[in-house]
Amino acid sequence: MGCYLMPKIEEILKKAGDFKGINRDEAIELMHLELDSRETYALMQTANQMSREQFNNKGENHFHIGINIDPCPFNCRFCSLTQKAGIFKKKIDFSFEDILDWAKIAAENSSDALNIMTTGTYPLNRLAEIGKRLKKQVDIPMVANTRDLNHKEGEKLLDAGFVGAYHALRLGEGKDTPFGPEKRIRTIQILKDVGLRWMNCVEPVGPEHKAEEIVDLMLLARKFNATYSGVMRRINFPGSPMQRYGMISEREMSRMVAVSRLVMGDIPKAHCTHEPHSVSLTAGANLFFPEVGSNPRDGADQIDGGRGKSILITRKIQQEMDWDPSLPSNCFNVP
Ligand code: SF4
Repeated sequence: MGCYLMPKIEEILKKAGDFKGINRDEAIELMHLELDSRETYALMQTANQMSREQFNNKGENHFHIGINIDPCPFNCRFCSLTQKAGIFKKKIDFSFEDILDWAKIAAENSSDALNIMTTGTYPLNRLAEIGKRLKKQVDIPMVANTRDLNHKEGEKLLDAGFVGAYHALRLGEGKDTPFGPEKRIRTIQILKDVGLRWMNCVEPVGPEHKAEEIVDLMLLARKFNATYSGVMRRINFPGSPMQRYGMISEREMSRMVAVSRLVMGDIPKAHCTHEPHSVSLTAGANLFFPEVGSNPRDGADQIDGGRGKSILITRKIQQEMDWDPSLPSNCFNVP
């Protein structure tokens, strides 16, 4: 057996490793590499090297707090917090004291950011109010994860102390969700216009998604200069309408994490994956989201850690893979 790579792949990896980005066709070609091939390992090695160098070996932890549960009438098909899923029957707004306690846990464990998530109908004023109150008591950059926004609402979040917003044009948007892709992109542009950092992930990936549609979302993240944009797979909660498609494995996800890292070139400040696992930390990922409160993948509210694992565990996984969570974050020092 020879030890050379396919010349075309070698050429793409060389260009990518020089932080020049790769084009759509090249990314699609990488998405189709055999998982067990030497080329896939070379792809992951390239992504790993880029991230270790660009992020200075920093392991990032952005602490997710899902601040409410409300059976959501938008019924996105991959989400467990919907009316249709019938898993969460009653509305819960976690108290400010609960939210503050979680934020303090994040602070005590050197979390790099708070990601404050709401369901689709949560009042924006209330989110802004919680942001204002949290900002007075904990010193961690706050990122909002909420519905589509207009310009005024974006400014409101900024005034409340948020420095960024997570917002994703989802795979299957408009088909598995009631939201038009244009609306998502409009919100992303608004975030940029008002001065909020835009955080993104290509999600929720399932086996039914074509390489082309996945790569198009990676390219969108590069086009709009996402602070980070890795890959999250879809988790099929019990009774999920997506169960018939199955789920991708963490190993498959790590190949995509690597492709998205190459696509992002020298743009990102971090590279995320979800849920936390080791293999993507060898493929360019350095950012995890430990979770408390609600999240759209659990079968029940797991307020002590949820599927996304607690921050002690995410830090430990990073340390085992030689990423250092105690270094300062790269995500918030420049706009
Ligand atoms: S993803 Fe958001 S908007 Fe869609 S159903 Fe879940 S909570 Fe509602």
